Amino acid sequence: MKLPMKKNILIFVTVLTLVFIQGIFVDEGNAITKEEIKIIRFAGDENHPPYEYIDENGNYRGYNIDIINAIAHAAGLYIEIIPMEWNDAILALENNEVDSLIGMSQTEDRLKKYKFTSPTIINEQVIFVNKDTVHINSIEDLSGLKVSYQKNDLNESFIHDIPNVIALPEKDLEDCLFELANNEVDAVLGNRVVGIFHLQRNKLTDKIMTVGESITSVKYGPTVLKDNQELLNTLEEGLEQIKKNKTFDRIYGKWFGEDLGYIKLLIKDYKNEIMILAILIGLVVLFLYLYNIRLKKQVLKRTQELEQANDDLIVKQKEIYNLAYNDSITSLPNRIYFVEELNGILDNIKDEVDSFAVFFLDIDRFKHINDTLGHHVGDHILNLLGIRLSKLVKDLDIVARVGGDEFFILMKGIKDESEIVSLANSILMDFKEPYYIRDYELYLTTSIGIAIYPDGGVDTQALLMNSDLALYKAKDLGGNSYYIYGDEISSEGLEKMVLLNQLRQACDNDQLVLHYQPQIEIKTGKIVGLEALVRWNNPDKGLLYPDKFIALAEETGLIIQMGEWILRQACMQAREWIDQGNDIIMSVNISAKQFQHKTFVKELVSILIESGLEPKNLTLEITETIVISDIEYTLNILDMLKNLGIGVAIDDFGTGYSSLSYLNEMSVNELKIDRSFISDIEKNHKNKMLANTIIILAKQIGLKVTAEGVENLEQLTILKEMDCDIAQGYHFSKPVSKEKIDEMMN
Ligand code: C2E
Ligand code: MG
Ligand code: MG
Repeated sequence: MKLPMKKNILIFVTVLTLVFIQGIFVDEGNAITKEEIKIIRFAGDENHPPYEYIDENGNYRGYNIDIINAIAHAAGLYIEIIPMEWNDAILALENNEVDSLIGMSQTEDRLKKYKFTSPTIINEQVIFVNKDTVHINSIEDLSGLKVSYQKNDLNESFIHDIPNVIALPEKDLEDCLFELANNEVDAVLGNRVVGIFHLQRNKLTDKIMTVGESITSVKYGPTVLKDNQELLNTLEEGLEQIKKNKTFDRIYGKWFGEDLGYIKLLIKDYKNEIMILAILIGLVVLFLYLYNIRLKKQVLKRTQELEQANDDLIVKQKEIYNLAYNDSITSLPNRIYFVEELNGILDNIKDEVDSFAVFFLDIDRFKHINDTLGHHVGDHILNLLGIRLSKLVKDLDIVARVGGDEFFILMKGIKDESEIVSLANSILMDFKEPYYIRDYELYLTTSIGIAIYPDGGVDTQALLMNSDLALYKAKDLGGNSYYIYGDEISSEGLEKMVLLNQLRQACDNDQLVLHYQPQIEIKTGKIVGLEALVRWNNPDKGLLYPDKFIALAEETGLIIQMGEWILRQACMQAREWIDQGNDIIMSVNISAKQFQHKTFVKELVSILIESGLEPKNLTLEITETIVISDIEYTLNILDMLKNLGIGVAIDDFGTGYSSLSYLNEMSVNELKIDRSFISDIEKNHKNKMLANTIIILAKQIGLKVTAEGVENLEQLTILKEMDCDIAQGYHFSKPVSKEKIDEMMN
């Protein structure tokens, strides 16, 4: 009985389909009213399941009902099926109250009275016993036992042939089987399918079974009275049709092709296994579900990680790009970027008409700013400078910072050289606007070297080198100017570089020498001081003056070493002249870088000790730029110098970047009015007034005043009238060698 599951499901579905089909047939049958048509009347047993019976809902159903309905449908008949007690059904047929019985077993007696269609089923009669019965295997074994059967059933004809059998007729087979289940009888004789139907319906299949071979096989089917051949033929035709179109097979399958309780039994037998299987499937589904969720989470997490990694990568790439191609202080492109851009342009030159130019800018005396105001101020100015330069150029031009205070500009799409001159001039003009840092107004100037493609070079290296040479030329012109590269400057530029190299060796090779210029007290006409001024005995060029090398020495830092030598030399010389009985003050120029150098005061003290010069006989000349730099630091050093007793003079006074307001706060004791005010004081009323104002101001705050560059008596007379203290200039003496001073002293 344990059929493969798949097959059972198939059968189950088939049964459902048949029920459905049957429903359609019935519906169609009801669609036409009975008055309109000839209705064939059938009778059947009201309680002969599964052939025909009234179910718990009052529906008359069963195998025969389905078969007759299918035949009627196939043959186009209108029918009525009436359930009755079996005996009444037979009587109804015989009395022509109905036309046919829906199903009846063929016996010899019956064949005399009725006609049967071809059988719709072959009925078997079998023995039913309780499952624990072992001694009944055939009909012979029933001898002497209590056997029940359905009254009027065809078994009645042979049960009495069994010797000594106690035959117990019952109303129907179901009652017989109840008696057997209750052990009231030993066996039951009855129709196999009918018996099994009742066992299943009453859940007795595990208690009662069939044994032995079938006792008889009897044909079974619809029947009519002998004289109703016409109806028989009609039914026969319908039957043939439903056999042909498989409706018959499906109905048979529905009722007998399957143990109707099989699925339930199967479920019962395999209850545990099915449960385990269901749990397993459930677990697998749950596992897959959870696994899927986990997988999704992992994928999500991984996706997020990848996205994050990607973002980081982009940020890193940007950082790397910025580091590689940008200057951190000004955020402008750097040299690498500029050079790549230049290479790109040179690689793609097609347009013969358009040219381009490289501008090389260097801020004049920017070292001073850094050295005096500190690097962060220098950086701030560079940043402002970058912004200002960027505003001056065209959109496609490139401004790059390529070194300390050096900038490149790549000017593109030039149609005429006048455009270059115009940009250079607008840069120089823009520099006239001051930079405001803290409380100071700073004025900067720049020098610009320009190389124009192709005259200024046809490759990157040549363009950059020649713009550099042009820059040197611009600086030579005094700064605050531009120079466009032409053939004539390349040698001069080279010359400058040679000079720098020679300067590096000048200190070590005793090529420096000091000249001294007397300072005269105007009232008395006596030499009260000497200013030490450095000269360089250049091996190629002979004696060079400071304007040729001091700026270079400051740029390269050589000034520290050089300044120390000058200070020592001047102090020793002063000591010598003082020892000879001359009461003089030695003035020494101190560059900003030297003044700001952290060991400056220490070196100064040791030089004073070394030379034995008294501090009061030394005056340091510093410029305004030193003073306005890191004011706190400067004030501190100035205080230290004052405490040491060393004099301090502000040199070139009146030319500096800043105002006079700071003078009061500082420990200085002398102002040196710049030569530019004095040189035409006798003709230039404005300068005369300025010089006078400076003198009055100095006197008011108790400072000594020296006038520089006094070249004639007229000038001296005016200064005397103005009550200026000291005069210095060619009128008295040019700066001269030690030997000349010796002569003068004597
Ligand atoms: P300074 O300190 O103002 O020096 C005065 C400059 O004016 C000297 O030029 C001097 O020769 C020049 N001079 C003096 N009287 C007259 C005059 O009547 N007419 C004209 N036309 N010029 C006159 P020098 O020696 O060429 O020095 C130039 C500058 O170089 C100096 O200006 C000073 O700033 C710097 N310097 C000179 N020697 C040293 C030094 O030893 N150390 C440092 N750090 N700087 C120095
Ligand atoms: Mg001086
Ligand atoms: Mg001066």
